[in-house]
This record gives sequence, C-alpha cells and structure tokens, in this order.
Amino acid sequence: MPKYVLALDQGTTSSRAILFDHAGQPRFSAQREFTQHYPQPGWVEHDALEIWRSQRAVAEKVLSEAQAGPEDLAAVGITNQRETVLLWDRATGEPIHNAIVWQCRRTAAVCDRIRAEGFDRTLRDKTGLVTDAYFSGTKIAWLLENVPGARERAQRGELACGTIDTWLIWQLTGGRVHATDVSNASRTLLFNLHTLGWDPQILNYFAIPSSLLPEVKPSSAMYGETTMFGAPVPITGVVGDQQASLFGQQCFHHGMVKNTYGTGCFLLMNTGTEIPRSESGLLGTVAWGRQGRTEYALEGSVFIAGAAIQWLRDEMKLITSAAESEALALSVPDTHGIYLVPAFVGLGAPHWDAYARGTITGITRGTNRAHLVRAALEAIAYQTREVVNAMARDSGLRPEVLRVDGGAARNDFLCQFQADILGIPVERPATTESTALGAAYLAGLATGFWQDDTELASHLKLGRRFEPSMDVARREGLYTGWERAVQRAKGWAE
Ligand code: ADP
Repeated sequence: MPKYVLALDQGTTSSRAILFDHAGQPRFSAQREFTQHYPQPGWVEHDALEIWRSQRAVAEKVLSEAQAGPEDLAAVGITNQRETVLLWDRATGEPIHNAIVWQCRRTAAVCDRIRAEGFDRTLRDKTGLVTDAYFSGTKIAWLLENVPGARERAQRGELACGTIDTWLIWQLTGGRVHATDVSNASRTLLFNLHTLGWDPQILNYFAIPSSLLPEVKPSSAMYGETTMFGAPVPITGVVGDQQASLFGQQCFHHGMVKNTYGTGCFLLMNTGTEIPRSESGLLGTVAWGRQGRTEYALEGSVFIAGAAIQWLRDEMKLITSAAESEALALSVPDTHGIYLVPAFVGLGAPHWDAYARGTITGITRGTNRAHLVRAALEAIAYQTREVVNAMARDSGLRPEVLRVDGGAARNDFLCQFQADILGIPVERPATTESTALGAAYLAGLATGFWQDDTELASHLKLGRRFEPSMDVARREGLYTGWERAVQRAKGWAE
C-alpha cells in the first residue's frame, strides 16, 4: 500500500517537495532556492530549466530521506507560482527565453493601451481579471513579439506555451503531456470563466495562436504518469498555489476566507459555483475543478508582503534572517509614526497602480532600524485589511475569522497585529504547509488515497488563535495614516 502523496510546491523563490502521510501530516520535506533575474528595473525572470532542476532535485531528496520508492507514492500533486509563463520548443524541450514572472511589469504600457481601447471591460467580463501586467496573456504576447523568430515558430506549431504547472507536467512526463488545470488557466487572461475554455476573441486580440496552449483539465484528475522515480506514478492533482492553500485550509464553503503570507499576500474567498464579480478591484478566479464541478473564488492579490522582509535582509542588510524581524518589531512600541508602502512592483488589489513605487513616509531624526522593520511587517497587515474591506464590499460578507498560512505567517507579531488591525481573530493551523497540502489533497482524492472532505476534516488542527486586542481609536488612527501613505506612493514611476 502506498504511504504518501508527493506534493511538488514550485514557489516564486524556491522549489519544495513534501511527502504527506495518510493523516495529512507533512513527514519529509526538501527545499531549494533558485535564481531571480532582474534584467531591468521592474522586470523579473526565472530560468525555467533551473526551476525544473531544483524541483527534480528536491523530489529526489525527499524520497531518499524517506527511504521511499515509487511504490510508496499514491500520487503526485503539483502546485505552482501562478501567471509566470514561458514558451518552449516542442521537439527539444528548450525554453526560447527565460520565464516571465508574475511580478514582472514589462507589459504595463501594453495594459494601458488595452484600457484606452476599452478592451479591459471585455477581459473582465470574460476572464474575471483586471487588465494588469501581472497576468500571463500580455507576457505571452510580449514573448511572441520580442523573441526573434518566435511568432513564425509558433505559427508553424513548433512551440508550446505554459504556466509553471504545465512546464513541470511536460518535464515529469518526458514531453508526453501538455496540460494545465482550470485554476491556472483562469490566471492567464485568456480563459473564459463562463465557457471554461480558451477564448477565441481574446486569443485573436493578442494574436496568440491556440495551438500554443495546453489542454485544460480539472484540478483533481489523471494528467499522466511520471517515470522519473523508476516506476510510473500518476500525476492527479494540479492547482495554482493560492487556490491550493484555499483547498489545504479546507475553505470548502461559500464565504470562507484564507490569507497566505508569502512573497506576496493572497486572500481568497470561496464563492461556490457562483462566478464572482468585483466592483472593488478584486479578481474572479477559478478555485478548482473536481467531481464534475467547477468552483470559484474572489481574490485580492498584494504583490509584495514577505518580499519586503527579504528586501530588508538582502538589499538593506538590516536583518540577517526573516525570523529576526519579529524580535526587532517587538523591541519598539510602534513605528515612531513611519509607514513603509512596499510598492516595489506597483500596487495590486485593490489599487492596481502599476506606477506606484516603494515609499517611506514620516521619517524623523529618531527613526531607527527597528521602526523600519516593524513598519514593513505592519504594511503586510494594512494591505490585507484593504483587501478584506474590498471583499466585504463585493460580497456583502465580512469574514468572522481569517485563516492564515505561508512563510511570514510564522511571525507571531504579524499575526497579532493582523488581528488587531482587522478587529477579527486570526487562526493559524498547526501545519502552515496549506499550499502543498491542498495539492496533495486534490491528488490523493483522485486516486482514493483519501475518500472525501469528511475524512480531510478529521485532519484539521489549529496551531494558534490570535484575538484582536487593540482599541478601536488606535486601530482606525493607524489605518488612516496608512491610507495617507499609500496616496504618496501612487503614480510615482513614469
Ligand atoms: P513563496 O512561496 O512566495 O516563495 P513562502 O511562503 O515560502 O513564500 O514565504 C517566504 C516569505 O516569507 C519570504 O518573503 C520571507 O521574507 C517571509 N518570511 C519567512 N519567515 C518570516 C518571518 N518569520 N517573519 C516575516 N517574514 C517571514
């Protein structure tokens, strides 16, 4: 009998592999960071082959640590950084260019043009998305335009296009399977939420040949088998990272919300089989497809959250580890009046200002390192509140609790400040591996390793609950200051 489901969690800064046992517990894990490329200000790229090599290496490592073989694996589940996209040669498997990462702003001007032409409304109605450089569609068009020979090769059917899930499936199956799941497809700006297929009018608008695109499948389904471990193991779960954590946190019912604090911050609210519409700068997206049903979510994406802590560590050298930020933040009673708006790549939900840039307001002679570090953590919580407010406006539902996960959710100061600034409790599960767990669940449900949602519910364990304790006047005063700081950050870049 297989003992584990192997989750491959391909994130923005690292690739991870985790073996989950029958009780949904992570038993073995391995992680490897890979290179971030910044060819120009605001541009971000990844080497897709390095991604694959790092992903393969951690998968092999985790199996060897567990002394497990293919016979011990019930299934492979894949979850991935979304929107990041690449083109490769179908014959050789060679990428024709680095992958363009979700954070990359290179197509901001193209998006301005789309809005000027009024096509953004069509895009929103069909795809649920805001017209922004964040999504894959304009990035694919950029590759076709700017990589010499790409358009001709695409027209001859020589190229394949894919988000990172598709790239990993291709690699895992030795180029036999070119597929994606509905949740990843819904992030491309090319996928129609109503028909659940690639939209011909949009493909035509961006001049993207449909032959480039992968087959779209449910998130919990048979994709193919990988033989990279010797004997075949089925790949049966594929889901974008944020939808994966919504699933891993078991937000299966309408109105349930989770927030993941990783590189960025991602709040998702389950809206069931109802296609959500936002008037507040949020996104309508596919949550997952399974058992013949497609479910949706309302999403607010904040681009820079934990990445601001990395910036303090790597560029500013104010801390030596992300974890150190907690003690420093607690070493001062407040930020001494400063705000850090980490709009390093513009602002996402609910502002969608590609030209906003990072800003520190209120610096005085007494401002010190601890204040700045605290301001970076507080900024994560303020940005989350902006999105929760927008969700409440759109859905009429205000969450009663916020379920949290992701690397930065390990920070107790941040979780407490989040509860304080929202005025609702924050719940952190015992395992913060919700993203990998969601992919494992979707994969394991498809093969019968787990039976149903009731069985999964028996796995849920609360780690810690943070109760709000700040008085309302202070909370609202701080938040008003944040709103003023955001105004200063907007529209800065030309
Ligand atoms: P991703 O999957 O987006 O790469 P993770 O969920 O692994 O991200 O989280 C990593 C992020 O969390 C990094 O940006 C890091 O700076 C931040 N982080 C990790 N630990 C802490 C901590 N204790 N306090 C604050 N931020 C943290």
